Amino acid sequence: MLPQPAAHVALDTPQTVRGACPHDCPDTCALLTTVENGRATKVQGNPAHAQTGGVLCTKVSRYTERTYHPDRLLTPLQRVGPKGSGQFAPVAWDEALDAIAARLKTIAAREPQAVLPYSYAGTMGLVQSESIAARFFHQMGASLLDRTICASAGAEALTQTLGNKVGMKVEFFAESKLIVIWGSNSIGSNLHFWRLAQEAKRNGAKLVCIDPRRSETAEKCHEHIALRPGTDAALALALMHELIVHGWLDQDYIDRYTLGWDALRARALQWTPERAAEVCGVPVAQIRQLARDWGTTQPAAIRLNYGMQRVRGGGNAVRAIACLPALTGAWRHRAGGVLLSSSGHFPVRRAALQRPDLLGERRPRTINMSTIGDDLLRPASPTFGPQIEALIVYNSNPVAVAPESGKVVQGFARKDLFTVVLEHFQTDTADYADFILPATTQLEHWDIHTSYGHTDVLLNRPAIAPVGGARTNTDIFRALAARMGFDDPCFAESDESLCRSAIGDDKDFAQLLEHGFASLPVPDAPFAQGGFPSPSGRCEFFSQRLADQGLDGLPDHLPNYELATPGGRYPLAMISPPARNFLNSTFVNVQSLRDIEAEPVLEMHPQDAQARGIADGAVLRVFNDRGTYHCKARLNQRARPGVVHGLGIWWRKLGLNGTNVNELTSQHLTDLGRAPVFYDCLVEVALLHKEDAHAEFAATLATEPNPKEAHA
Ligand code: SF4
Repeated sequence: MLPQPAAHVALDTPQTVRGACPHDCPDTCALLTTVENGRATKVQGNPAHAQTGGVLCTKVSRYTERTYHPDRLLTPLQRVGPKGSGQFAPVAWDEALDAIAARLKTIAAREPQAVLPYSYAGTMGLVQSESIAARFFHQMGASLLDRTICASAGAEALTQTLGNKVGMKVEFFAESKLIVIWGSNSIGSNLHFWRLAQEAKRNGAKLVCIDPRRSETAEKCHEHIALRPGTDAALALALMHELIVHGWLDQDYIDRYTLGWDALRARALQWTPERAAEVCGVPVAQIRQLARDWGTTQPAAIRLNYGMQRVRGGGNAVRAIACLPALTGAWRHRAGGVLLSSSGHFPVRRAALQRPDLLGERRPRTINMSTIGDDLLRPASPTFGPQIEALIVYNSNPVAVAPESGKVVQGFARKDLFTVVLEHFQTDTADYADFILPATTQLEHWDIHTSYGHTDVLLNRPAIAPVGGARTNTDIFRALAARMGFDDPCFAESDESLCRSAIGDDKDFAQLLEHGFASLPVPDAPFAQGGFPSPSGRCEFFSQRLADQGLDGLPDHLPNYELATPGGRYPLAMISPPARNFLNSTFVNVQSLRDIEAEPVLEMHPQDAQARGIADGAVLRVFNDRGTYHCKARLNQRARPGVVHGLGIWWRKLGLNGTNVNELTSQHLTDLGRAPVFYDCLVEVALLHKEDAHAEFAATLATEPNPKEAHA
């Protein structure tokens, strides 16, 4: 057992402290932090944790650079300039907390729903995300937040098909003979899965990647199917068609463990490979070959990821794909099935952590975080309810990451909006705050983590004392609760106690304290004999619950909201996958990582570029009716003709002319799960001439203060 120093104690000899990566990544790595004289000097992967294997991605292996970054917020700040100007002055903690509590108290006394929490996966920890914070907002009766921005279409689709966010165990991909990597650049965003896929490849497995982009992962697979964005369901239905007509079905598995086969069969028979090829923009032969591979190889597995569900029909697409393993009985094998998320396997005690009972009889409205641009601009109305008057942002950077950022900025710039941001750095969102409160990083606090890519629980111990005047999210909400007069004993619960009660029992926690991680007792082949956590216990091809909502009970292909038409104003489909060295908007300000990415880019096929007189490296204006994004052209074969890739997510103030790719994305929502459609977006691209740049930059300055200039 490694020595575990008490937190906050400076020791002469280097100590190693066990932790967990907090970031929004399926791998949830186990960390080992070396601490010397109270300072973290190195963060490594824990070799004892099989899922981590001692290896971290480039981003998190630089975690000390982020923790001790010269721009780290070390004291509370109060705005002294116009919103968005980035002008702040230090203020004492007590003064800041008193002022915030007084303002919230005034608003809540009149209309608590006018207060909105805004948070997401800046940390995935159960304690520093929604524990004391959720209790605080529940006690107040604030509006609820629908946390949809990343994964809710896929999550809802899995729930409607398999019964929960469950799937095969990731470790067994190493034994698969066919792996379909669907909508994922695993090398960039699921590195530890890629290690397993490589092992399978060495053992003779075939790897197929389905992705509009020829990503680093796609070019290392045996086959790459570069379909058009938003056409995944059509491809999945055509695969079913081929499985049916060639008899590549496990009829016994279908009969025993699925629901709605006859109806799905009839639907799939409408999707010939020729029809799907037309919709997807891929060769018929490629579809036929993939169907043959899927129908004749065992064990066969699909690693699905969330990129492909960010379109209008994203939920239906995930449903269609999640049906494929049941058709061939792939679930019978531990190395067969599908994995999008494993998070439904974890018995998290959310009610105990978040205490919705503090609401009493009150039933506040719910605001969708993906439409924050529109919602901040809405006046009070009988349908919307009260105008949003106060916004408390933690673990999120909506000004950079929410869709249609022109409107998001307009909303955050409202003079009458009271905004508090808990952060590590002065992000684009923090620039619009009235108060910025410095929060601790993962090296400075307790937390407990589940995973959506494996089935281990991890404990994060604090390795160092909080840097500067930073405080934990929990501590900040406890202090605000006290000032608001919230005296329920639940606000006094310590972080260690929250970790202890979040999941499992005391025996499990003892194991977490000793080893840092513990595996859930999930069977190796959880659905070999059905037993899905759905209402019927079967894989539900047909969902009665969806039909009861007036929706199609069967999966189908729903075309994108924005489809290019001949002669249309916006002929290029844009997707915005993450730049490899950023994780959403986290790490963009870490210089060594930004140096690797160099500048915001739009990947284009040379054919599309040539038609517009664009050379590699040219400065571009990417635009549609929602806005304009400035970036550099990167011409390569990663893009298929007609599709461009705006790699994200740059902070606006670190990008070109204060823009990022979300200037262009829309606030439309997916078919299931009310999620954003980041990858369902048409644009046009032109060279940014010097005079255009000048005119547009001047226009920007006229309408909003430019943080970049304010910092200069
Ligand atoms: S971001 Fe992902 S791969 Fe990187 S350390 Fe965290 S969990 Fe591991």
